[in-house]
Amino acid sequence: PSPGPDGVVIVTGAARGIGRAVAELYAERGHPVLSADLTLPPPLRGQARVKADVSTAAGRERILRAARELGTVGVLVNNAAYQGAHGGVLEVSERGWSRTLAVNLTAPLLLTRALVELMPPGSAVVNIASVQGLFAEQGNAAYNASKGGLVNLTRAAALDLAPRGIRVNAVAPGAIATEAVLAAIRQSQDPEQTRRDYEDLHALRRLGEPREVAQAVYFLGSREASFLTGAIVPVDGGMTASFMMAGRPV
Ligand code: NAD
Repeated sequence: PSPGPDGVVIVTGAARGIGRAVAELYAERGHPVLSADLTLPPPLRGQARVKADVSTAAGRERILRAARELGTVGVLVNNAAYQGAHGGVLEVSERGWSRTLAVNLTAPLLLTRALVELMPPGSAVVNIASVQGLFAEQGNAAYNASKGGLVNLTRAAALDLAPRGIRVNAVAPGAIATEAVLAAIRQSQDPEQTRRDYEDLHALRRLGEPREVAQAVYFLGSREASFLTGAIVPVDGGMTASFMMAGRPV
């Protein structure tokens, strides 16, 4: 029997990056997928897709309507995130702070709540957190707070949805070689050095691939993970195994 879930797999922020890799992996393994993003995600082998801003009630309603047409929901992957509010505690704008929390923290709560009526016992939620939800990066207060919130929202939701037989877990990726991260490296002053700096954050001395995050998400959403709930799984090449960079004395 397939270890995967029954029902449609909903992936937010699925137009590119990690979300796209997650949607592709589920589609490849024969699961029906509903991809949602701010702009209509590119087609994926006849799978369903919807244009929706998860931070708005109207956007979440569009996802709910599309999901209803597909039947029950097997896995909800809360992946969409806003990463544009730069600045530390003394600089971050209120607007950027609010947008970050709305997309990265409030939307996963409200989308989970909206879809729960379609989620049978045995279904699962997988939240895409970050190593930056476990530890902070200087100058990135809003994102750090939103992902830290998502980590503990994952635990709260695991407790509150357990009576329904719905499991809730999260992954905490390290630096992943998405188009956005690769572009940031290319545009830096010294791309080779920047790449090495990123790599050296991880004990495995490389960036992760979007597909490696997708594989962990797939496992958490599957029946193979039937006794995992409220877990935060680092997919970080050993970054958080050490309090020193890649376990190396500085
Ligand atoms: P990305 O920017 O490449 O993709 C994010 C997608 O989410 C985009 O397609 C964007 O349009 C969509 N999105 C943004 N706001 C949205 C909204 N309000 N409604 C619907 N869709 C929206 O990002 P990524 O690097 O693939 O990151 C995916 C997830 O992984 C995020 O939660 C991010 O915080 C997390 N993450 C990424 C890394 C990394 O190194 N790339 C590391 C740790 C965690």
